[in-house]
Amino acid sequence: MTVDVLPKDVYNTELVANVHPPDWRQPTPAPRYNLVVIGGGTAGLVTAAGAAGLGARVALIERDLLGGDCLNVGCVPSKAVIRSSRVLGDIRAAAALGVRVTGTVEPDFGAVMERMRGVRARLSHHDSAERFKGLGVDVFLGDGHFTGPDTVEVNGARLRFKKAVIATGARAHHPEVPGLSEGGFLTNETVFDLTERPRRLAVIGAGPIGCELAQAFRRLGSEVTLFHRGGHILNREDADAAGIVQRAFVDEGIRLVLDAKLTRVERAGDGKVLHCETPRGAMRVAVDEILVGAGRVPNVDGLGLETVGVAYDHRDGVTVNDRLQTTNSRIYAAGDICMSEKFTHAADFAARVVIQNALFMGRKKLSALTIPWCTYTDPEIAHVGFYERDADKRGIAIDTYLRPFSEVDRAVADAEEDGFVKVHVRKGGDKIVGATIVARHAGEMLNELTLAMTSGVGLGRLASVIHPYPTQAEAIRQVGDMFNRTRLTPRVKKIFAAWLRWTG
Ligand SMILES: Cc1cc2nc3c(=O)[nH]c(=O)nc-3n(C[C@H](O)[C@H](O)[C@H](O)COP(=O)(O)OP(=O)(O)OC[C@H]3O[C@@H](n4cnc5c(N)ncnc54)[C@H](O)[C@@H]3O)c2cc1C
Repeated sequence: MTVDVLPKDVYNTELVANVHPPDWRQPTPAPRYNLVVIGGGTAGLVTAAGAAGLGARVALIERDLLGGDCLNVGCVPSKAVIRSSRVLGDIRAAAALGVRVTGTVEPDFGAVMERMRGVRARLSHHDSAERFKGLGVDVFLGDGHFTGPDTVEVNGARLRFKKAVIATGARAHHPEVPGLSEGGFLTNETVFDLTERPRRLAVIGAGPIGCELAQAFRRLGSEVTLFHRGGHILNREDADAAGIVQRAFVDEGIRLVLDAKLTRVERAGDGKVLHCETPRGAMRVAVDEILVGAGRVPNVDGLGLETVGVAYDHRDGVTVNDRLQTTNSRIYAAGDICMSEKFTHAADFAARVVIQNALFMGRKKLSALTIPWCTYTDPEIAHVGFYERDADKRGIAIDTYLRPFSEVDRAVADAEEDGFVKVHVRKGGDKIVGATIVARHAGEMLNELTLAMTSGVGLGRLASVIHPYPTQAEAIRQVGDMFNRTRLTPRVKKIFAAWLRWTG
């Protein structure tokens, strides 16, 4: 089976040559594998490389492109496009910074997408079939499915395993809106094939994928209408954080249709019309393209899971316990196929849990991982641990410390005041249980707080970490100072005053 990625240019030819080489020769299957991995996205690649590196006999099966969503239709292409769009955001903000941009600023959509394809092709070497072969992994390109208690078939080849890992990921959910399929729409699987900018773009869904791409396309010059079922965008995030991004979207001219119920889509000439109901009345919006970013569904079909007694459902995917073992004790799962945290780094670290548990009788637990995440809008929202609502639900009393960037010198100098660092600690102590940062580079800044959480460093101690002045990350130290000031109880103050009187 050959796989095409459009447009068929030099970059996509390089990409395919790396991650689904048309002339790939399937290896002769070993008599039995320690591990057969189905799915060659992040979870599958990390599992296969890690296990082979430890001396296991490993087969890796991928039906489409090695690298999975992240490399091909997810993190990598989206972040490359976002980078270009940020330049346009900066130009828009230039006047406020005293820089007059004269003449026209014209985003060259074709060039932006070409650059993205170049970045993707370049990074694809890391996930290439050849590289994994070199690591000692038997790479099979084709559809894998279980055929018996210890066998997986791919292209007629029968692979026997001692343990198997399901890492088949997820795909875009297609909402059931009458006329949507007939009208045609893009998802993350096709949007990066575009070479021409849609003049008018409807984005369905204001979760992380919808929001990142809505803002990027707006900055690249599309008229964007963002439809969302919820009352505000990014509704799983801290509401104050999401509010800041929502205001930025409105400022940039993204038309938000909130509490929207899409009722139908119809074709109109070369374009499409979306009909929707909102609490403010019915409306119709004419666009050239529709991009759907309305959630993910796990790739469970056609895997023969019933044959091997692996329980699953179509919403949450493969059922696993905390050690990522499925209902068949010889079969494990990792990544988007079984986890609610659908992120590349989560898939990566879940794969490490699986290697230890499947091959070395380990007892590693998924719940022991601290998994941060970031939505790469501008500003970004990065989060780790509990939100206030999680603490409420679990009956954990917390104190919250917040530092707005309007009080952080570097953010003021940068004209990046819309944001904050918010840290939750267990009431009565300084153990950090959660944090949210809204900032231009929140994803980079969050790591300090994640490190503190994973290594048991309390908020009070962060106050003693010297940060270069002026940096936006100083906000984290300042939150530490805020915590320490609360330790200065009236009684402690009295003792200090008495000491100073006595020694003075
Ligand atoms: C637009 C977008 C942007 C994103 N941005 C980010 C980001 O910035 N940061 C981040 O951390 N995460 C991001 N993600 C999420 C990230 O891409 C996923 O969490 C990650 O790719 C999950 O890895 P995985 O290995 O579980 O699944 P996948 O990457 O989906 O890989 C699964 C693989 O299994 C293959 N497969 C499926 N069934 C079979 C079968 N029967 N036989 C053989 N092969 C099969 C598929 O072809 C696929 O290659 C983004 C996702 C999208 C869609």
